[in-house]
This record gives sequence, C-alpha cells and structure tokens, in this order.
Amino acid sequence: MNKIPYRITLEEKELPRYWYNLKAVMKELPPPPLHPATLKPCTPEDLKPVFCEELVKQEMNTTDKYIEIPEKLFDFYRMIRPSPLIRAYNLEKVLDTPAEIYYKFEGTNTSGSHKLNTAAAQVYYAKEAGITSLTTETGAGQWGTAMAMACAYYGIDLIVYMVKVSAEQKPYRKAVIETYGGKVIPSPSNTTEVGRKILEENPGTGGSLGCAISEAIEVALKTKNCRYVLGSVLDHVLLHQSIIGEETRIACEKYGIEPDIIIGCAGGGSNLGGLIAPFIGDRIAGKNKIRFISVEPASCPSLTRGKYAYDFGDTGKTTPLLKMYTLGSGFIPSPNHAGGLRYHGMSPIISKLYHDGYIEACSYEQSKVFEAAVSFARCEGILPAPESSHAVRAAIDEALKCKEAGEKKTIIFGLSGTGYFDLTAYMSYNNGTMTDYIPTDEDLEKGFASLPKVD
Ligand SMILES: *Cc1c(COP(=O)(O)O)cnc(C)c1O
Repeated sequence: MNKIPYRITLEEKELPRYWYNLKAVMKELPPPPLHPATLKPCTPEDLKPVFCEELVKQEMNTTDKYIEIPEKLFDFYRMIRPSPLIRAYNLEKVLDTPAEIYYKFEGTNTSGSHKLNTAAAQVYYAKEAGITSLTTETGAGQWGTAMAMACAYYGIDLIVYMVKVSAEQKPYRKAVIETYGGKVIPSPSNTTEVGRKILEENPGTGGSLGCAISEAIEVALKTKNCRYVLGSVLDHVLLHQSIIGEETRIACEKYGIEPDIIIGCAGGGSNLGGLIAPFIGDRIAGKNKIRFISVEPASCPSLTRGKYAYDFGDTGKTTPLLKMYTLGSGFIPSPNHAGGLRYHGMSPIISKLYHDGYIEACSYEQSKVFEAAVSFARCEGILPAPESSHAVRAAIDEALKCKEAGEKKTIIFGLSGTGYFDLTAYMSYNNGTMTDYIPTDEDLEKGFASLPKVD
C-alpha cells in the first residue's frame, strides 16, 4: 500500500466523471416537495419557470445512481479540483490521539468554499439552455462569490441580492463579486415589489436571507431568459456536491484508508450530503458501519431540536413546501451568530437520512467552535471558515474520545472553506467579546408556530 502523504491529491485521470445520486440508493425516498397553493406534489412544470430544465430533471431523478458530469463542466472542475484530502498529522500530534484524522479541504479556490462545485454546474446548465441572466441571494457572501466566478467563466449576467447587513459588514465580498462582473443589490431593495413592501413595513431593516430569496425569485420570474439559482438544500445541489465524496472515496481506496467516522457541518446540508454520499450509499447497502455526524450551531439547531415537518424555504412563504427538519420559516436566528449555518431548515435528503437513523447530529456553541478553529489554524496552518469549524470541533472531540478509550479510529471531516472573509468573527473571539446564544424552548415555539398546517 502507498505511504500516506500529508496532502493527498488525485491525478486528473483519476478524477470522478460522475456525480453520485443518493436518491437512487435510499431505501425510502424523502417525501416529495408540495406546491404551496394546492399542497399536491410538485410537477416538473411547477418548477420550470424558476429553475433550468436540466436541473429540474436532476431534482426529480430517483433512478440513476451515477449522473455524468458534462465535458464542458469538467473543464471548469479541472481548474479547481481535485481538492486535497489532508492527513492532519500535526493536529493528531497536538491532541496526542491514537486516531487518524483526515480532512477534505474545499477552500483552495478563490471563492473559498465548496459552493463553487454547484455554482459551476448550475451556470453551465443555464448556459446550455440559452438562459442569459441569473439571479440569486447571498448572506455571508460565499455563494454570491461562487456564482460570480462561474458566471464570468460561462458568460452569463448575474444579479446578487445580498442581505443588507452583510453587504455593509463585508465590503470585500461585495468587491470580489463585482470584480467578477456580478451586480450586487443590498436587500431589501426598491427594485422589487416584495422588497418595497418589506421596506415599507420595516423601514431600516438589515434584511434576511428569506427576504433576499423572495426578491431574487421575483426578478427571475419577471425577466426574459432569466432563472433563479439556489446554493444549498435542494437535491440537485447535493448531487453536484457529491464530487467531494467521490474524490474522497477514490483517495481512500488509493491509500487503503477506511473511515470509521465522517463528520461535516450542516447549514442547508449540501457539503455534508456531498461528502458522505458514496459512503452512506455503501452503508445503506450494508457494506460499512461508518458513523456519520452532522454538526450545527447551538443557535440554529434544525436537526437536534427542530421538527420533521413540511415547511417553506423562505420567509416570504412563496417556495414549494419541503419535508425537512426545521425551526419554522419564521425562526429568526440570533444576530450575534457568526457566519453561515443560519438557515431555518435542512436538506430533505439529509433530513430523511437523519430521521431513518443513518446520520447522527450534534450542536456546539460558537465560542467552543472558535476555540477549535484557532487550535486547528495554529497547527494545520489553514484558517477555517466559521461554518467549517463546527466540523473541526466535532472531529477534535471524537479524536479526544479515542485517546480516552485508547482506540485507533479513522476520522474524516469536511473542511468546507476558509475564513479570510470572516475576520470580524475571529476578531470578536480574539478580543473576548464573542457571546453564545442558545434559543430557549419558548423561542423555538415561536418558530414552530409559523409552520404551515399540512401533516
Ligand atoms: C455555505 C457554507 C456552508 C453551509 O452550507 P451547506 O449547504 O450546509 O454546506 C458550510 N461551509 C461553508 C464554508 C459555506 O460557505
């Protein structure tokens, strides 16, 4: 067997040419999305005005385990992939653990996270379908940046509705998006009906993701040859992210690595779903006994404290209803929470796998997460994104459990991105002003009260 290098990469000819479609291997499928007006399962026709046709097909595909990555998209992937699978030799030493720790690092591209994997795919399909412009929302800014890079490459116009507070707090993100040619509009804005209405009702509001989504969808529906794109949650997004898991599987096979535990952070569930896809497929087929752990912030605990129910994807309650673990579309995460992972819901695929007992979930307060991020940065060199640092925390804790029990386990975790644009959060951790927030049961009840009555 080959000796395991510090940084494990693949040659271009070893790169996966297919995505892994989890829905083709799940024993039971997630319940279908429902049309918000009729409460009947959505048909492809319901989704086509909003999303590109090929993506709608992928969203509905429950039969093809492997879906081929088109050649012109592979050309883009070649620029940014493979991402390295890194053996955390230094972290292992610092923790003095018998565990073997690996992380799959998605932050090597300029946008700084895994989101570029699906941004490129979605823009490619839009281009092929003759779409000339796209709209989307961005909160923390990673998604908007990834979309701007992909749109620049394929030559498509992009409008990004950026949550107003983020646009003000993260001027560098805005600058990157604009450098790649994207147009940034702080949301809520007076460019849409829904934006004007929200501004009238809440003058001076800093905006929210749910509100930016509503604005982006409105523009896509009203503009010729324009569609909307979403960066997480949906099945086709998890499908595109499965390239992370496929590369990891190939690297593991090449070096004889057999994971006992795979860990990922979860906001909408796409990097986690992508990383675990082929491994959980094997687990469903009875071929391994890997533990899969989803890590979320204690301030926005969709899996650990949410309800498994049909809910809207946006605050404006315009999207199809998705069956998912949710805190209610009316749940407003604490403003003191740094970075992403603030979404009220969770990918329907991840939700179903969790519901059926294939995935475990845990949550951490942000000061614990940043403590882990800083120790990781100091020994492994990489400054992790606050989101990714949730996975770092959980991996460190599992490795410490191995030390206590004297067990040599193999842990792989997803390091979904870098933290260069989140230095305000690091500053507040460094100067001791970071606070933790855990919603009370009463806080959560308010969110649950916003759930539509379906079941
Ligand atoms: C957006 C983002 C996440 C959360 O999204 P998922 O869909 O849950 O993967 C996690 N990490 C980073 C770095 C992100 O940018």
